[in-house]
Amino acid sequence: MKYIGAHVSASGGVFNAPLNAMKIGAKAFALFTKNQRQWVAKPLDDEVISKFKANLELSGILPKHVLPHDSYLINLGHPEVEKREKSLTAFIDELNRCDELGLDKLNFHPGSHLKKISEEQCLEFISQSMNEAIRKTKNVKLVIENTAGQGSNLGYKLEHLGYLVENCIDKGRVGVCLDTCHFFTSGYDIRNKETYEQSMKKFDTIVGFKYLAGMHLNDSKPDLGSRVDRHDSIGKGKIGLEAFRLIMNDERIDDIPMILETIDENIWEQEIKLLYSLVEK
Ligand SMILES: [Zn+2]
Ligand SMILES: [Zn+2]
Repeated sequence: MKYIGAHVSASGGVFNAPLNAMKIGAKAFALFTKNQRQWVAKPLDDEVISKFKANLELSGILPKHVLPHDSYLINLGHPEVEKREKSLTAFIDELNRCDELGLDKLNFHPGSHLKKISEEQCLEFISQSMNEAIRKTKNVKLVIENTAGQGSNLGYKLEHLGYLVENCIDKGRVGVCLDTCHFFTSGYDIRNKETYEQSMKKFDTIVGFKYLAGMHLNDSKPDLGSRVDRHDSIGKGKIGLEAFRLIMNDERIDDIPMILETIDENIWEQEIKLLYSLVEK
């Protein structure tokens, strides 16, 4: 069974996110638990937490099908120690917020070397930051997202994700999120049955389907391997609908949150219906 939703707005309070998901017929959703462009947020108070939990129950969406996304400011592999520590502090705060909301995952981008250190050094820093975060928090799974590889962002090779999973001190608290746009623009073709199976086989060998904890369903404006991150609506970009039909019928991708981050939120409801219509009985 597939659980499709979108990255919905939490403006006015995190408790609005489940209601926004309901409105578009979603069975899963993503949200920011704080303003994603600010370092510090005021703590979640008990009233906000209980309103969130009540609305989540009302929506019928299970906590395991919610995939919070962390702030874009956080860089767990920052070359400078002070900035890396600032990121780690903010990351730990986000993990705690998820835990307080009764959610069990936090989706994040690995980090960027900013052309000041090697990719290897940056990956080592990210791994250290992740392990420190795991030591200082509980319950919430750290879900690493693959990236398009724009600028100096790491996570554009499956080997990067594989390394971070491999070096994690608690394998029960690490997972990965595959973003289809990022996957495609970082060079993994999924446009037809043959290339899809090849790319997914690489994923299974280098990372492993058992670590797949979420997906971002996005079509892509740029071409295969362009390493540019620009999403498009489902079926309207360079990936095309066939890839999404293959995903919707892939049993290895059952029971995880699958999130639209497509560009036109006015058609999310239709996109969700479209995706479910691709399931072959
Ligand atoms: Zn992301
Ligand atoms: Zn994404």
